[in-house]
Amino acid sequence: MEQVSAVENIIDEEFARTLIYKLTDWFEKNKRILPWRSNPTPYHVWVSEIMLQQTRVEAVKGYYDRFLSVLPDIKALADADMDVLLKLWEGLGYYNRVRNMQKAAQTIMEEYDGEFPDTYEEIVKLKGIGEYTAGAIASIAFLEAVPAVDGNVLRVISRITGSRKDIGLSGTKKEIRELLNTMVPLSNPASFNQGLMELGALICVPNGTPKCSECPLSSLCSAYQEALTDVIPVKEKKVRRRVEEKTVLLLLYEGEGEPYIGITKRPETGLLSGMWQFPLLRAFSSSEEVKKQLGLTDCSITEATGAKHIFSHIEWQMRGRLVLLKKLPKELLIEEQRIIFVPYRELKEHYALPSAFRVYKHLLEERYSS
Ligand code: SF4
Repeated sequence: MEQVSAVENIIDEEFARTLIYKLTDWFEKNKRILPWRSNPTPYHVWVSEIMLQQTRVEAVKGYYDRFLSVLPDIKALADADMDVLLKLWEGLGYYNRVRNMQKAAQTIMEEYDGEFPDTYEEIVKLKGIGEYTAGAIASIAFLEAVPAVDGNVLRVISRITGSRKDIGLSGTKKEIRELLNTMVPLSNPASFNQGLMELGALICVPNGTPKCSECPLSSLCSAYQEALTDVIPVKEKKVRRRVEEKTVLLLLYEGEGEPYIGITKRPETGLLSGMWQFPLLRAFSSSEEVKKQLGLTDCSITEATGAKHIFSHIEWQMRGRLVLLKKLPKELLIEEQRIIFVPYRELKEHYALPSAFRVYKHLLEERYSS
């Protein structure tokens, strides 16, 4: 192995060999027992990696088990009804991930005869599968010696090499990927890649002080040796999120029988595309304004709790309005949203609502829990 000039000039053959040995040995002895690790088929690795992109391991476990019990294989995913898919994903957020998974599953059924493609080059062509996920599937399920570079790996490698380059830049990511390309061992790519990810999750942690005294790589780590762990990795602050003010309408009919709730479907493109939600007004609106916009006189309106939800580029600041209707309308129209009314039990069981509305779902749960 030649000396590698990428990132920092400190990785030579001897260094790489020691790192690989220490890392894989530590991983084999310390890895967490996780549901997707017991039988790492490409489908299992894929589902878990997509879920883990935005969610903590502990939270993913339940989702993962539920998803696989309903959709145990690629064919089941390819054929699944969209409402079922979204319901299984409810609470994980970033719903395009699961839509893309279904498109990829359909491609596998149509173009690969239902067999998951077994090389990095083919896997990375599938919808919604980027370099990291393709690297994870190829190395863990097919033992191909390719890197899988996520945020954990960027942090660990930057610290080990002492790199001061901004890990938010695609150029830095590319350099680290190229560096790792020369290091992933043919003999054990799965443990090497998972070792880096696991080290980043458990020892070289993203928030707070890294646990260098427990780290198997401390003798090789530049940031540790030079007391720079609070400086590295370098990550420039991202641009500010756009703040949008919203009024959330909880339109309730509590006449005879079970309660009905007003919901509306979002447009098929853009943020939370095609998802069901409580109706949203584009700005903060008073009870009087809400009444006027709804065109209803026979209702009572009270203030409900406020909430905040952060998307990658947008922040929603929400105020709630609880609207008790005297009559059950067939449907309502407000700010181009067609509102339908569904029984509360049906809403709970069949409609996936984005986590942005978590507070308001809880509010209804408390109201109708008895
Ligand atoms: Fe991270 Fe500390 Fe280990 Fe370096 S020694 S890789 S900073 S945990």
